[in-house]
Amino acid sequence: MPFSFGATSTARLHTCHPLLVTLFRRALAHPSMPHDLTVVYGHRSSAEQAALYAKGRTTPGKIVTNAAPGKSKHNTKPSQAIDVVPFIDGKASPEDWGPIRACAPVIYATWAEMQADGTVPNGVTLHWGGDWNGPPDGAHWEIRGV
Ligand SMILES: [Zn+2]
Repeated sequence: MPFSFGATSTARLHTCHPLLVTLFRRALAHPSMPHDLTVVYGHRSSAEQAALYAKGRTTPGKIVTNAAPGKSKHNTKPSQAIDVVPFIDGKASPEDWGPIRACAPVIYATWAEMQADGTVPNGVTLHWGGDWNGPPDGAHWEIRGV
């Protein structure tokens, strides 16, 4: 079944760099994509980043970001980062690594197709937070070199 983003995800997607817009539109429509996806964050203002950065430090909850305000790829305009999670049985599943790991290869494969067809300029690279050492961030994808 081909998936497509709903209105809220589409609005968030369009705060992102055009390469991320193309990547996630194509990836979600890819015949191999195993799950629907929802966009949790595209661009974040400094105030939004400050609120997230405070979590687990000066406000309740666990730490969700190591990027201080202005230091996140989400803080650029357009955003060079996007947070995307599987959307299963009507809800976002940000903690469920099985589906997250199932979707990641399709996202990488879509990026490789975009490189092959010339959509991605030389020197621009894609990075997944799920590959990070330290606390991995399975929702987070960012581009570098734009
Ligand atoms: Zn992120």
